[in-house]
Formats: sequence, structure tokens, C-alpha cells
Amino acid sequence: MTASADPNNAIVTLPDRLKAVRCVLRKEYGKRHRHPWVVAYSGGKDSTLLLQLVWETVAELPAEERKRPVLVVGNDTLVESPLVIRHLRDSLEMIDKAVDESGLPIETHITEPCIDQTFWVNVIGRGYIPPTRNFRWCTDRMKILPTTRLLERMTQDTRGSVLLVGTRRAESQNRQRTMDRRKVSADRMNPHGAVDGCRMFAPLSDLDDNDVWMTLMQRRPPWGGTHRRLITLYRNAGGGECPLVMTREQAPSCGSSSPRFGCWTCTVVKKDRSLRGLIDSGHAEAEKMEALFDFREWLITLREDNANRLPVRRDGNAKQRDDGSLVFGPFTLTVRHAILERLRTLEKRIGESLILPAEIDSIEDIWWRDEIREDARQALERSVSETTEPDPAGAMA
Ligand code: SF4
Repeated sequence: MTASADPNNAIVTLPDRLKAVRCVLRKEYGKRHRHPWVVAYSGGKDSTLLLQLVWETVAELPAEERKRPVLVVGNDTLVESPLVIRHLRDSLEMIDKAVDESGLPIETHITEPCIDQTFWVNVIGRGYIPPTRNFRWCTDRMKILPTTRLLERMTQDTRGSVLLVGTRRAESQNRQRTMDRRKVSADRMNPHGAVDGCRMFAPLSDLDDNDVWMTLMQRRPPWGGTHRRLITLYRNAGGGECPLVMTREQAPSCGSSSPRFGCWTCTVVKKDRSLRGLIDSGHAEAEKMEALFDFREWLITLREDNANRLPVRRDGNAKQRDDGSLVFGPFTLTVRHAILERLRTLEKRIGESLILPAEIDSIEDIWWRDEIREDARQALERSVSETTEPDPAGAMA
């Protein structure tokens, strides 16, 4: 049994700390209003433990007191690491089955980005360079907006909702600072920054990594099976998780430099240590992971070479830095075509669907419009250079 010191220096055991979390959950769930709970579930260790404690709390109540619906929400960016998304979808399926049998007021839902705003439609279609720390266009489009839209719908329907997140102080010093600054705690409700009427709290705030792992190792999920697959996934990847980002405040943790599960295409991190970890651990699908890893590295190489990019931005204007150097624009159409071709080849090679037909339709539509725009830009450039070129006859006169 693990024990640790609480802020008042009293020794508290793990069962006591878990009991305290369940007590907070019971109290909040027992409030008179009917605002639904929305549990942010990434399939990672923290959100899995959160869901387990939520489930146990609601299941313990007499049927007539289970009045508030609980929505378990996962997000699929459509470029999730294949092992991680398989784990998320499989566990949500198990949860659905167990709910059917138990009659608990729990539902599951997976949000996705709009087809027009996926990673590939932006990179291959619009030519956006793969995200960097300074140009991280992806988190908003692929994680925050899809979940915000769902929260808005839920909150409108019921005039309020409560979002439960699995964030913990002990995750990192940065996390601790952010949580302290915003006064996030296990039992304090904070307003969601973007959705009126939605309040949020972090019931696991004060648990440390050991607490989470010990509980997952010692107890089975109430929806069936074991946590073995999750534990193995972490062990092989040697890292933490990419959280389900449901607010702008959480965005900085997405694609952070710590080893994490997230988009396999993530070029915000220098090295994808979770994919690398899976490859090095000799995972059964290591060859597949290696191919994804190489593709991601290739995307970075493309991004670093300005010759692959247009000299103007998507709006057709050139932009210069203060020192007069040119800020290059999106990938050229030739490069975008090459990325799609190589992605399709990769799909065949590893036998995994990596892009949806609807994304390809959207990409072709954007290309068609960009080709017209590019032809017009080049024609304009030609006519400007013809009219500004010195007239040899005039010069001679
Ligand atoms: S994991 Fe990386 S690519 Fe995916 S949303 Fe986060 S920062 Fe963007």
C-alpha cells in the first residue's frame, strides 16, 4: 500500500486518497440540477482512472439517484497513432456493451475534426507546412473545435454541463504551475473558457503517478477486461499521453516534448519518442511503426526546405520579416501531389487506412481552386515584369 504526505504533512494512504476522490464525485453528482457530466477520455492512464472512479461512483448509487447522464467523450484527430486509436475505439466499444447490460446512464461519443479541417486536408490540400511549436495550427482544428462544438450542444440542450478532466498536478512542473495559477483543484468548479454554462473540475488533481499506476494494476475496469493492454502500451512507448485537449488552456500540452501518444504525424516534437519506443521495444507492429516514423521525418525534411514552398502566402501576398527576409508560404502544388502519392503508397505497404476518401475529395477541390489562383498569379507577375522591363528601343533613342 503506498502512502504519501498531504499538503498538511499528514500521511494519507492510497485507498484514502481514492476514497476522497469518490466522495467529491458523489457530492457533485448528487447536486439537484440535471447538468450532464462530460468525461474527457483519451484512453490514456489518467482519463481511464477518472472514468473508472466515475463509473464506480454512479454504479454505487440506487437507480433512482442516477439522474444525471454521463457522456464519455474521446477524440479522433484522424491521424492518431494506429495502436492508440484502436485501443480507444475498442475500449469505448466495451464500455457501450457493459452499459447496455448495467443500465447505467452512460453514453460514449467520439468527436472528429470537420473533413475540411483535417491534418491532410490542410497539409496536402492547402499546403500548410506540418505544424511547428510557433505555427501549431492543428490543435485548435483537430482537437479543441470538435470537442467544443459537442460541449456547446450538450450545454444548450440542458442549460449547463460539467466537464471532468483527468489532469493532475504531479504530471509536470508546468502542469502544476498552470493548475495553481487557475486555482484548479479536485473539488473546485472553474468555468470552461469557451463554452458558457459549462463548468469543469479535475477530480484527480492530487494523485501522483504511482497512485494512478497502482490503482490500474490492482483493479479491473468495471466495463470488463483488464488494464493490461493500456499498461503494455505505455511500457512499450516509454511515455506519457497526449491528453484530450478540450480547452485552449490545455493546448500547450499537446505535442509537448515529453514522450507521448498523439498524432503519428506530429511534427511539433523533434523526435516522436512514443513511436520510437514502440519500434525499439520490438512491438509486433514495429515495422509498421517504423514506416510511419520515416514518413513523419520526411514531412519535417520537406518543411525545412524553402524550395518546397511558394514565395507568397495563401492570400497571394508576399510577407517579409523585419530584416527583409521572405516568409515562405504553403507547399507548392507539386510537393502537395508528392505527399499524397507517397501517403497512398504507405497505406498499401502497411495495410492501414491513413486518409479518408472524403479528405481526398476535399483536397482535389482545393487543388482545383489553387491551380486557377496560381495561374492568375503567375500571369500577373509576367505582365508586371514585361511592363517594367526597360525598353531596349527606348533606351537607344
Ligand atoms: S499531437 Fe501534435 S499534430 Fe496532433 S494536435 Fe497535438 S500538436 Fe498537433
